[in-house]
Amino acid sequence: MFRTACPSCGAEVLFRSTISALAVCEYCQSRVLRNADEVKDLGKIGQVLEDYSPLQIGASGVFAGRAFTVLGRIQLRYAAGLWNEWFIGFADGKFGWLADASGQYMVTLPLGLASNAPAWTALQPEGRYEHGGRAFVVTDKRVANCVGGQGELPFVVGNGYQAQVVDCRSGERFLTLDYSDVSATQTQPQLYVGEAVQLAALQMQLLRSDEDIQRSAGRIKGAAHVLDCPNCGSPLPYRAGVATQLVCAACGSEVDCSGDRALVLTKHTEAERYHATLDCGDGAMIEGVKWTVIGLIEMAETDDADSHWTEYLLYNWQQGFRWLVEAQDGWSWVTVLNRLPESWSAQHVVLDGQRYPQRFPAYGAKVLYAAGAFNWRVSVGDRVHLQEYRQGEFTLSKEVNAEEVVWSQAKVVSNQQIAQWFGKQDIKSLRPAGDDGEVSRSLAWRYTLILLAINLPLALFADELIEQLFWTGIAAYALHWPLNQGNGDDE
Ligand SMILES: [Zn+2]
Ligand SMILES: [Zn+2]
Repeated sequence: MFRTACPSCGAEVLFRSTISALAVCEYCQSRVLRNADEVKDLGKIGQVLEDYSPLQIGASGVFAGRAFTVLGRIQLRYAAGLWNEWFIGFADGKFGWLADASGQYMVTLPLGLASNAPAWTALQPEGRYEHGGRAFVVTDKRVANCVGGQGELPFVVGNGYQAQVVDCRSGERFLTLDYSDVSATQTQPQLYVGEAVQLAALQMQLLRSDEDIQRSAGRIKGAAHVLDCPNCGSPLPYRAGVATQLVCAACGSEVDCSGDRALVLTKHTEAERYHATLDCGDGAMIEGVKWTVIGLIEMAETDDADSHWTEYLLYNWQQGFRWLVEAQDGWSWVTVLNRLPESWSAQHVVLDGQRYPQRFPAYGAKVLYAAGAFNWRVSVGDRVHLQEYRQGEFTLSKEVNAEEVVWSQAKVVSNQQIAQWFGKQDIKSLRPAGDDGEVSRSLAWRYTLILLAINLPLALFADELIEQLFWTGIAAYALHWPLNQGNGDDE
């Protein structure tokens, strides 16, 4: 441990590890560089946005039998989302990263330059990359900017640092090709290799408690506030710290509230709304957790306007987000997978040894209507490409767009269960279920999940201005919500 005084404000700055190149002053956000014999002020970095992550600096865990400590983090933001990269130091003096995205966690260790990596432009979602005799699949490709930092970091990074990364998966194995520093003289990206993990498996100590999380989230409170639509003046209910994007149900305006004032981005008067059973503001008690519907999206198949369904975005301050889908053949509850299936083709998928035959040929879907609060920008007309596979009451879905491929798993929920969760009588599917082959491709939830997957732990900003909404997070455990067991339709 090394202590020094911040060259800018004089406060104590701590270096817990000798592998850290710099530390961010907790009081003035100055980046303090530690050289052999001098301490230098490199200027300030943005403050991190407070989120629902249970991780914090000083927490410790074990990965692959090696103990580590969380030393610092950077937050990265791209067009529609934000995620954390936690810098972790191992007892043996090595370092790694614990990525914390949409409640999914991945540990990676640096392996130096990737000598066999294709050029940045040659990699696309679903493309292949070989490492260690395994075929990895590209699941994500994006350019993001560093917007905040905290604690210690292994190299000099600051606001405006641009990350260019490609993530690849093979089962639970995970690797990142980092093209950020690729130049004329260094043409290969840095390679980081590791695994998708659950925090419980890392035997984490000193995580933030529920009270700690609630207290920081409470700085702008998860309580509902009301903002007037800047276009038509209608009240727009939202949860501070949860949503950055509101869609006015009265006039169809898309309102951005990620800055210090609400801005109308665009207006959709042509949006078409079908009957949906639930509405924004409806609450549900699901296995002891209270969820609220904060947004709804109506989708249709690109080539079949009669095939439509509704996706509800549910929020709980502690658990983050979930999706409930109301389709023509019933309801489903959806989980985003933090791993790839063992294999897949057009005909079937194998996940955990189970074979899921193709349910429908691949199809496109688009957003017809949206209302309520969202943690990314949703627009009428947005499109996604989908493929579905089904085994019993479970459906696997693959969604692909230009930046990523996401797999998710949905479980059928009965009408009676929905009625019980929401305390409503007489819940029906939109249409009686018929022969499976004739029902439209309706067990879809898709689109929105992609965006959720990439929108990291949206954060609660440590700021009193309630107008100032910031990204909030999807807690890890949120993604591992036990699927409804009490369902009368089980077995
Ligand atoms: Zn300072
Ligand atoms: Zn309006």
